[in-house]
Amino acid sequence: MSTVNEAPPAAEKAEVKIVKDATCTFCGCVCDDMELTVVGDHITKAKNSCVLGKAWFLNHHTEDRPDAMIEGQPATYEQAIERAADILCNATYPLTYGLSDTTCEAQRVAVAITDWIGGCLDTTTSVCHGPSGMAFQAVGEVTCTLGEVKNRADFLIFWGGNPAESHPRHFTKYSLMPKGQFVPNGRKDRTAVLIDVRKTKSAKAADIFLQLKPRSDFELCWAMRALAKGVEVDTSIEEKTGISLETLTDLVDRMKKAKFGVILFGMGLTMTRGKHLNSEAVLALARDLNKYTRWAAKPMRGHGNVTGADNVVTWSTGYPFGVNLGRGYPRFNPGEFTSSDLLARKEADAALIIASDPMSNFSQPARDHLASIKSVVLDPKLSETAKVATVAFTTATYGINTPGTVYRMDDVPIPLRPAFESPYRSDFEILKAIEKRIREKQREKNG
Ligand code: SF4
Repeated sequence: MSTVNEAPPAAEKAEVKIVKDATCTFCGCVCDDMELTVVGDHITKAKNSCVLGKAWFLNHHTEDRPDAMIEGQPATYEQAIERAADILCNATYPLTYGLSDTTCEAQRVAVAITDWIGGCLDTTTSVCHGPSGMAFQAVGEVTCTLGEVKNRADFLIFWGGNPAESHPRHFTKYSLMPKGQFVPNGRKDRTAVLIDVRKTKSAKAADIFLQLKPRSDFELCWAMRALAKGVEVDTSIEEKTGISLETLTDLVDRMKKAKFGVILFGMGLTMTRGKHLNSEAVLALARDLNKYTRWAAKPMRGHGNVTGADNVVTWSTGYPFGVNLGRGYPRFNPGEFTSSDLLARKEADAALIIASDPMSNFSQPARDHLASIKSVVLDPKLSETAKVATVAFTTATYGINTPGTVYRMDDVPIPLRPAFESPYRSDFEILKAIEKRIREKQREKNG
């Protein structure tokens, strides 16, 4: 029995609301069928989410930080906008980086700012599926949506990825399990193959698991291309890849007999020896197979809106990442204009970092240089990068606090339905204010 002095928990007093069809932005699946129970400024239930999505929603809390910090000291929003515009206007070689965990609307303003200041524009794609971005430029892409995969695909190859752990709802919602228009029996109508260097949790879900030797993806893919074209393959491929020629020949025969096949490839393929040449080989294999039947190839994208970053940067500049706008027109050169390389060579003299934490994952020389130059950082959390920033803005979290658009890994745009408002401004609002101030300063300077 409760005593008369016992106050009801704060949560009981707060208003409870249900947000239907909310979107999870934790991974590239961007599942848009969440049902969130929101109590005040806490999400207490996230129906339909996977274990990663639950952690994303239920562990979210609004940080108690100033709107902005300048050189580690609390500052007003207006002071921070002024200082950020000063830094970016006065830089000789500014860099814009991040963008995969924010809305397309904010990404678009970041591109405009970089254009106005003649800087380098790069996204986290340069450290994940950058090789695929290069391969698309060289080979093109035979593509399809996850809706087509669900309704049509009877043959799936997962190559160099572990969706069971990295994209937990991919199998159940989009690819392996769901019943579709031309695969009415779902899983029973599909053949699933996993190609990887180790037996991950995803192997259990596959009909065929091919464990290839590390760093032999390129050779394996080219052998499959040859077999698809009826070219004889030397038995030395067995020693090279660890997979028998008989198994490979059987696999390619089955692929040619499929009605609709899809290769879904991960960073296990793109970040091993061969890199963009591996992605090119897989894209070319899918293209070759279209002589016999319908095949597509799609990268499995990680961050929530990294696909949006690729789309926005590509539709604005013609290239997906690693773009230099210093000469007034876009130049694409990964290695030269990608952030980690550019910072490690000590070329950038200022940085605008949006929703990303390069101080946690770049090489030591790149981190040392980033910490030594002036930087403007937008992040909901006090990340390692925000800690060394000259100007650090505390931002609202996209999807949970702010509306906007994100792209699913199959290049389909999805709207966000936020759960509750944040006391902080969105990336879009902050970037718009910085852009406005930069334009005013440039006009003052040029008369
Ligand atoms: S699969 Fe990805 S997008 Fe879908 S609920 Fe899980 S973490 Fe969120």
